[in-house]
Amino acid sequence: MRESFGTALVTGGGSGLGRATARHLAAQGCRVAVLDCDLAAAESVAKDIGGLGLGCDVSDTAAVGAAFAKVQAVFATAPRLVVNCAGIGTAGRILPRDGALPIAAFERTLRVNLLGSYIVLSHAAQAMAGLAPMADGARGLIVNTASVAYQDGQIGQAAYAASKGGVAALTLPAARELARFGIRVMTIAPGLFETPMTEALPEDARAAITAQIPFPARLGAPEDFALLVGQIALNPYLNGEVIRLDAAVRLAPR
Ligand code: NAP
Repeated sequence: MRESFGTALVTGGGSGLGRATARHLAAQGCRVAVLDCDLAAAESVAKDIGGLGLGCDVSDTAAVGAAFAKVQAVFATAPRLVVNCAGIGTAGRILPRDGALPIAAFERTLRVNLLGSYIVLSHAAQAMAGLAPMADGARGLIVNTASVAYQDGQIGQAAYAASKGGVAALTLPAARELARFGIRVMTIAPGLFETPMTEALPEDARAAITAQIPFPARLGAPEDFALLVGQIALNPYLNGEVIRLDAAVRLAPR
């Protein structure tokens, strides 16, 4: 077990997995900055947990830089724990029936899910590198969110799976490079979780996926994800790894 990180920033913190994570970290005693492109949602969560709400598009480098500067100004320190939950769930075939190739949709998915995670990771690393090391030499922890789709992407998930594959792949090189600063980098690859992102799925698609989940045979709860973030924070030897959080599911092609 290690000492508390004290300050945290959670992207996508206005909803779903990010919101549960922000709440969990606050309950563990962290001061939490809640960042989301939906400022009202971020502020609402921040108000509940006594944190700081920030409106920001993670794919906008200048805006992310300004958000980190605001955290520094308000908390009088950089966040030691940064959790990348902001993301979009997109679906669409490579060859849709209407014949129009969805290149722009692919680009947007990579921009938010992969580039956005990288922009936040970069700013987090820069901010953490300036912090004094804690007793065990650690300066901070960055947790990214991929998806089991990075390994078992279904038909229609080419863009989403590619974006999450990028997030998974950058985990090890980032952990290796940032090791000299005492910054760990981890990624969680969730299965299907009960959040606004999956509420939009048609009932038959949800039922088909739930039927594939061995045990517990239910969709993940956002609190299951938040718990794992806290567990990764507590275990100083976890680094450079992608953890599937999926109740042993392996998704079929469709
Ligand atoms: P969610 O409830 O939709 O939460 C995502 C949050 O991120 C939303 O508040 C969203 O705002 C925000 N966001 C989207 N684009 C953003 C941007 N460019 N800049 C800043 N904020 C942005 O979804 P979730 O289910 O919690 O998903 C969280 C992460 O887990 C995502 O990366 C997702 O791909 C991943 N994941 C989810 C599941 C699942 O089953 N739920 C499974 C595997 C992986 P808007 O609502 O305004 O777009």
